[in-house]
Amino acid sequence: MMIKINNVSKSFDGVRAVDNVSIDIEYDFSVVISGPSGSGKSTLLRLIAGLETPDNGTIEINGKCMSAPGLALPPHKRRIGYMFQSHALWPHMTVLENIRFPLYDISSDEATKRAKLLLDRMEILHLADRKPDTISGGEARRVALARALAPKPEILLMDEPLSNLNHALKKEMLDLITQWRSETRSTLVYVTHEEQEARHISSSLFRMEKGTLTEDLASDVWK
Ligand code: ADP
Ligand code: MG
Repeated sequence: MMIKINNVSKSFDGVRAVDNVSIDIEYDFSVVISGPSGSGKSTLLRLIAGLETPDNGTIEINGKCMSAPGLALPPHKRRIGYMFQSHALWPHMTVLENIRFPLYDISSDEATKRAKLLLDRMEILHLADRKPDTISGGEARRVALARALAPKPEILLMDEPLSNLNHALKKEMLDLITQWRSETRSTLVYVTHEEQEARHISSSLFRMEKGTLTEDLASDVWK
């Protein structure tokens, strides 16, 4: 099992953002999580990433305990890539530097080579020396995706990564994500409100409501 979440809860100021959630996600598998705003989706992803510590329960990755009450190994010890709702690029760095930045554990030449390869794959190599505020919203998502993939993560967490993109740009990004998925044996947890994205990513659908996660077997969930 790639990710094993056992009875995990997390409260903020007495409010249970994530309430006794358990889920097992296999290697090389994608799941989609939907649900209303404030239902705990981002908190669950942040718990998996190691950006939050659970109040109760444990999270195992690759058979190793990564999170427990009082314990959360940081994201870089989990082989995890994270793509946020806003692209969250570092404004003072160029596109190339943004992608190179997480690659501190390989040589500088190697990091540049890998970053350029990813930019080429995303068809934005010509933007390498630009600053984020000089590129379009669609281009910025490609940079954010390249940055998330650069450390070759075994798990990719995507939190509404394509919100506010138009239909055509969304389709292009979804194709890039699907291509990457078919080339790497990696695990994807994808949060979205949108049917187009969900259908593209996985038929394994979960729904979050008030901190509780349930598998969604109904085919008319989007109606
Ligand atoms: P979603 O991603 O489904 O919109 P979130 O996980 O962001 O939901 O939030 C779930 C609940 O936890 C909300 O009530 C939110 O206000 C609360 N929450 C999330 N993060 C924090 C935080 N750092 N401090 C206080 N409350 C938080
Ligand atoms: Mg959220």
